[in-house]
Amino acid sequence: MDDPVIGIDLGTTNSAVGIVEAGFPILLANEEGERLVPSVVWFGPEGAVKVGRAALREPEANRTVRSAKRLMGQRFAERDQGVLRTLAAQDGGIALALPDRVVTPPEVGAEILKELKRIAEYRLEGPVRRAVITVPAYFNNAQRAATKLAGEIAGLEVLRLVAEPTAAALSYGMDKLDERSRVVVFDLGGGTFDVSLLELREGVFEVLATGGDTMLGGDDFDAALVAEVCARLEKNSCETGESERFRREAERVKCELSESEQSTFRVPFYDGTSSLEEGFSRAELEVLLEPQLTGMKRICGAVLVDAKVEPRDIEAVVLVGGSTRMPVVKGFAREVFGREPDCSQHPDEAIALGASIQAGILAGTWRKVLLLDVTPLSLGIETLGGLMNVLIPRNTTIPCKAGELFTNARDGQDRMRVRVLQGERELARDNWELGQFDLPFQPRVRGKARVGVQFSLDENGILEVLVRDVEGERDLVVEIESAAVDVSDAAVEQMVSESVDHAFEDMNARIFTEARLKAGELLPAVQEALREFGEDMEEGERDEIEAARGAVVEALEGNSASALKGAVEQLDEATEALAARVVEQALSGQLEDDKLNN
Ligand code: AMP
Repeated sequence: MDDPVIGIDLGTTNSAVGIVEAGFPILLANEEGERLVPSVVWFGPEGAVKVGRAALREPEANRTVRSAKRLMGQRFAERDQGVLRTLAAQDGGIALALPDRVVTPPEVGAEILKELKRIAEYRLEGPVRRAVITVPAYFNNAQRAATKLAGEIAGLEVLRLVAEPTAAALSYGMDKLDERSRVVVFDLGGGTFDVSLLELREGVFEVLATGGDTMLGGDDFDAALVAEVCARLEKNSCETGESERFRREAERVKCELSESEQSTFRVPFYDGTSSLEEGFSRAELEVLLEPQLTGMKRICGAVLVDAKVEPRDIEAVVLVGGSTRMPVVKGFAREVFGREPDCSQHPDEAIALGASIQAGILAGTWRKVLLLDVTPLSLGIETLGGLMNVLIPRNTTIPCKAGELFTNARDGQDRMRVRVLQGERELARDNWELGQFDLPFQPRVRGKARVGVQFSLDENGILEVLVRDVEGERDLVVEIESAAVDVSDAAVEQMVSESVDHAFEDMNARIFTEARLKAGELLPAVQEALREFGEDMEEGERDEIEAARGAVVEALEGNSASALKGAVEQLDEATEALAARVVEQALSGQLEDDKLNN
């Protein structure tokens, strides 16, 4: 095959690679016939590296890196506490301290990608240079950039980063659905839960909404089972050394209960003398998982609301991820979305197959379907009064562009500070800063400068900000690729739920700030107009204006948004006639000037 494009699922626990061959997507197996490569890298002495099962066989925990995907694009400040010691990398990201070297998450990802590239080259019997890689739909700019960097370190040109749910839907052959069909992709793996609602329009998939929890998955089910066993033993928690045995046994019992109604939790000589045998029924396990299922239900509900879709408008529900093998999870998906889920694909392979189809589309070996993703969080800039001004709302289909014109707030201001923000909160300070920079321009009087800000999000979800001084024709283009996004994956979800929790006070703060800014304009203007025209006004009108002005000044002292807004509106209304007089005077002054000039 000439210059093939491979599709890669770079997963937290397992990774896989595939390609479209003779019009069909297939996964490529290594020499042992395995199509899933554990996402584990062992960094041995003198630069030796092993990936996948070979790495798992190595005993030294302090040389073995797992789940590097969780650290991709993370800041040092928000590192996870794992077996390995973490350090701050030069760029502020995380580095992992091994006995004789230091590695960054993209370098670890690159080792996995190199292995997948090697498998593909072995199967295809030729060099592979280009790839499509999947990323979770909620990955932010920094995480996407880190994934792309991993590809580059591995010697791959990353043609596109594709959202995992879109890849999953593709692998289920969802492109054969009718126009405007809606598909839910329900992905529950070991450590994460993702749910996305896609819509097919003119042969193109659009993600209408996504939601999830990066800290919820099969591992939590195992933990719930271990906690129950400990409770039955009347222990608060397991002793060190026991916990890994208990966890492994819990996972085995959980998986067995997907096939049978009963299982037994067995740990021989767990405390050196006695053996443990605890029977579990499937129903008992399901009761233990109720808190997790309740959390999942809330997330699914939010996705439906976000997408403005009713369950009856959904054509297909696709299940992905190992934990969807559990009958309770299948039943849950059926109940929440009102239809039988499609489990026709291997849940561990669907995403890699979809990535391969997308690779085939780009290589021209596959037909028609295109993919579109959405923004996981809103993007905007800070404006006057510390407010968030959203340019691209959350869940907008990408690639996309949006812009707005802004002006200067002060006389003689000669630069504009652009703070690029990501998040759902009304006040800038509650959102995350992706970057900030200054656009210098000719000093002008207040309100006279015109500065356009345009955001372009490319198909990889990487943001480019163009700032233009319209008159001065000065441009500044900043790519927010490796910007400091001071957040963890979980914080993305936290942001969304906090915006819901604080919706009321946030909205009040916005209304108060907007009314305060308006008052800041109105009060001096009214003062000036009263000075000039006050003498000629009827007493009643003047008193009314004075009273309204007093009410605004008083409301500014307080903290009630509705009181201030009401007072400002009242002042605006009371000064309508006065404002008309000011305009009239200005116009006649202008006419006089014109006459004199002619
Ligand atoms: P993934 O991250 O998609 O590879 O999924 C891994 C998770 O799926 C782990 O928590 C496994 O315990 C879980 N899993 C795999 N097979 C089963 C099964 N038959 N029943 C229940 N959970 C399973």
